[in-house]
Amino acid sequence: MAGELVLIVEDNDRNLELVQDILELRGFRTLVATCGADGLALAREHLPALVLMDIQLPDFDGVEALRRMRADAATSLIPVLALTAFAMTADRTRFAEAGFDGYITKPIDVRRLPDLVRQYVRPQTPAAHESAS
Ligand code: MN
Repeated sequence: MAGELVLIVEDNDRNLELVQDILELRGFRTLVATCGADGLALAREHLPALVLMDIQLPDFDGVEALRRMRADAATSLIPVLALTAFAMTADRTRFAEAGFDGYITKPIDVRRLPDLVRQYVRPQTPAAHESAS
């Protein structure tokens, strides 16, 4: 069985490589983007089982990227986790209100990451592909 596809949108090379390495080591397939626009394009084209979305990106922020994903029928149901250094209570509330399914704090806890990702990946069902066409 092929591993679930996870899209990582992160403009910090070190974080991007770290997350990608961990997930691939654990059998996930990955796609990477370093700005919001590329992330949205990849999400639409490949319909990943999960998106890990950095908040501070060079073009528009992760909250705006999420808003655009939710507004697009093709990507509206894909789970999205915020990837963020902001871990204060107010920020967590802001991310939940924005519609993120959850969040992962930076620095990345490499031991917890695979289980977190596993917990949120959307099963790849025929219906998931149908809704995107
Ligand atoms: Mn960033």
